[in-house]
Amino acid sequence: MTAQSARSSDNPLLRREGLPPFGDISPGHIVPAVEKTLADRERQLEELERSLVPTWEGLVEPLMLLGLGLEYGWRPVRHLLNVKNSDALREAHEAMLPKVVASDLRLQQSRPIYEGLVALKKGAEWDGLSEAQKRVVDLRIRDAEHAGVGLTGNAKERFIEIEKELSQLATTFQNHVLDSKKAYALVIADEADTEGWPQTLKAISAQSYNQTKSEGDPDATPESGPWRITLDFPSFYPFMQHSRNTGQRKKVYLAYITVASSGEWDNSDLIARILKLRKEKVALLGFETYADFSLDAKMAPSVAAVERMFDDLSTPSKPCAVGDFEELQALAKESGVDEPLKHWDLAFWAERLREKRFDYTDEQLRPYFPMPRVLDGLFALTTRLFGVTVEQSRDDVSVWHPDVRYFVVRDERGGQISSFYLDAYTRPAEKRGGAWMDDCLARRIVGGELRLPVVHVTCNGTPPVGDRPSLMSFGEVETLFHEFGHALQGMLTTVDYSDVAGTNGVEWDAIELASQFMENWCYHKPTLLGMTAHVDTGEPLPDDLFEKIRAARTFRAGSNMMRQLEFGITDMHLHHEFDPDGEETAFDVHRRVAEETSVLPPVDENRFLCAFNHIFAGPYAAGYYSYKWAEVLSADAFGAFEEAGLNDESAVHDLGRRFRDTVLAEGGGRHPMDVFRDFRGREPSTEALLRQNGLLD
Ligand code: ZN
Repeated sequence: MTAQSARSSDNPLLRREGLPPFGDISPGHIVPAVEKTLADRERQLEELERSLVPTWEGLVEPLMLLGLGLEYGWRPVRHLLNVKNSDALREAHEAMLPKVVASDLRLQQSRPIYEGLVALKKGAEWDGLSEAQKRVVDLRIRDAEHAGVGLTGNAKERFIEIEKELSQLATTFQNHVLDSKKAYALVIADEADTEGWPQTLKAISAQSYNQTKSEGDPDATPESGPWRITLDFPSFYPFMQHSRNTGQRKKVYLAYITVASSGEWDNSDLIARILKLRKEKVALLGFETYADFSLDAKMAPSVAAVERMFDDLSTPSKPCAVGDFEELQALAKESGVDEPLKHWDLAFWAERLREKRFDYTDEQLRPYFPMPRVLDGLFALTTRLFGVTVEQSRDDVSVWHPDVRYFVVRDERGGQISSFYLDAYTRPAEKRGGAWMDDCLARRIVGGELRLPVVHVTCNGTPPVGDRPSLMSFGEVETLFHEFGHALQGMLTTVDYSDVAGTNGVEWDAIELASQFMENWCYHKPTLLGMTAHVDTGEPLPDDLFEKIRAARTFRAGSNMMRQLEFGITDMHLHHEFDPDGEETAFDVHRRVAEETSVLPPVDENRFLCAFNHIFAGPYAAGYYSYKWAEVLSADAFGAFEEAGLNDESAVHDLGRRFRDTVLAEGGGRHPMDVFRDFRGREPSTEALLRQNGLLD
């Protein structure tokens, strides 16, 4: 390395303008760049704490700019970790991660900044600030208060103690679930028991056997076994769907619903302790229940509003779930099974019914969905709805892999408003699975100039083979639409404050609105057929395949709805009415809810709560309802288009522009209930979701 290239200005992670030069970043740049970025930020923070004036210009503007360094110096590292992983990159990331976390915490916990924000809110300038500006201040204050910054003395000490214990309990809870799941397996040696299994189930269970067998034992093969069934979903679920051995299904089912509920990995006491500590913690912050605390940072206005949604959804869904069950029972009877169906029979008979009604495979659909055609369709829909155009950039943009493409989004007058990277294909060796949207650069004012937003859209689609393009499954198409919906909210924002621009600052029970809204278009026949062209013949998707896709969407919708409601209602009860010191246990609460929500009452052994990571070890505590809340919003937003007529060009044009100017443009800059009301003219209703799921007839 020459003296010249060692200069910090040559470190691509220390650039502070333009696009991050992804192609030039190497793991060796990370430690020096992040060290310097954090040191600079600490110095700027200290300076701000010393000299701040509690005004927008004297506090909030410099405060938001404190995020600029990491936006260029750290966010690209996090991105590359997900899409271009390597040992060296991981090592550098791990070395710096604790320092970044500590620095973020230091900033969030800054008492002078917090007091400055509170003073600003009480000051003369406040009334003159725009709604988005007020949101920036309010959200910063809220997050600081939720993190205990407003506490002093004993209360503060106790708060810190509780947080520490809760974080340990979450880790232990999760580990118990993992270890308990790992300890269970059902080894099947008799080939007769594998009758009807799909090839993939045979293959993964033979592989699982080989990974755990004693040394010297002969290898298993997919054809002749032995086969090892585990409680991991890709093993457990296909087994429940395809095993014809009722006794074995019962065994595996009972193991599944008793994970981490006895012996050394028993989570029962942890559940009680977690609920008790959460209640104590939020009492210190002035909230009566943990649910009140959770909803304080969400779109849903109150527990009562969430409970109303539960009722509105369950009333019409429950009879449908009963109907679903009766269908399965009838099918079983037709096939010679006379006994009443049990829990461990449901997945099996549901799969038989699905096969009978609308069997199709991904492989049948893929030839109709070449990616270039799908992208054209997606971009054409974007133009039709929102008036913006998307085109691949001809500029030489630095990327991390040759398959990555960079697109520019322009408004109706042709001016650039944003851009995005599309990293579409799977690369198992260096890229993590799944699909996601992420900010690259938020929209913000830097040095008096507007800097446009840039986002990442990352998928794991099937790569092209030879000169054949990527052929997408229907699921991959839906996922692309979903992530692009998030991306549109990131890109079409008109808010200039990075804290609340695009998807930033959007309450997370509202964050799936734009994404799921876009998914709905995959079930609109002209839109979907318009982006299909068989890779060999150019034929569009045949009608009968489209009808199967559409029917599959609402298959057993009542049962699926009731199952999600069982989880959501249980979660809300445990964090609201439930008294951790009372007579009733958390298990009693779950049983009471399950008796109301499921057609078959739960079996006595049911200890599902012991493995409910989402609410005991994840971020969904008093938030599981968010899944349904967001579905209600996106279905209702799409419902506006359905009511106006999806093929009525002028109505779609007007509604599309309104969606752009509200949900997509305002994003986190207004409370999501106000944003929704701006678009829909009223508060959300559950009707569209029920109708789209076929639950209203
Ligand atoms: Zn999403």
